[in-house]
Amino acid sequence: MMPVKDEISIHASKVIQYDVHRKKWSDCERCDLGNRARHHVLGRGQIPADVLFIGEGPGRHEDQRGYAFVGAAGKILQSALELLESTYCVTWFLSNLVACRPCETSISPNRAPRSLEVVKCQPRIEELLELVEPKIVIVLGSIPKSFLTDAPYLRSYFTRTAPHPAWVCYNGGTDSAAYQTFINVITNAIDSFIVEGSAL
Ligand code: SF4
Repeated sequence: MMPVKDEISIHASKVIQYDVHRKKWSDCERCDLGNRARHHVLGRGQIPADVLFIGEGPGRHEDQRGYAFVGAAGKILQSALELLESTYCVTWFLSNLVACRPCETSISPNRAPRSLEVVKCQPRIEELLELVEPKIVIVLGSIPKSFLTDAPYLRSYFTRTAPHPAWVCYNGGTDSAAYQTFINVITNAIDSFIVEGSAL
């Protein structure tokens, strides 16, 4: 039985570890983004999970609600996840390079996270890997890819990159060729993991 904490389902064996993680990071001010955030967005999904998706950073919707990928891009990703669940029975967890919305002020538009912010938030990602114990890590988009390619703490994980679901939004949504490309990249990642002899 997985106790449900809002949009995070946690196996009993992971509850204490998750609570330590949440208390440590939910009011973190290691970088300036923490002062401006309405919520520190640690993620959503299941702990542990087969696949950990790492995006760029929370947007305005995520900042307001406190969960990762709940805006327009999140709807695209959710649709893909439902397909993965029915095809592979995978479990998943979603998070971002930084837990707080990258912006100049609380009313400014979203921006990309800066190097220093990513560096400050990196220990949270390392903890998240220990917590989620993913078999596959999928890095979403070019900015996370630029920070995470060759990251030493990802070396022991089966890691692949995919377009960010926001790219699908900008290119026609779930009825588009972009969406099919997005699905193909993610399913190819899972298929390669299985072909290499590992079971989900
Ligand atoms: S982005 Fe990460 S390092 Fe910066 S304040 Fe938020 S939780 Fe802390």
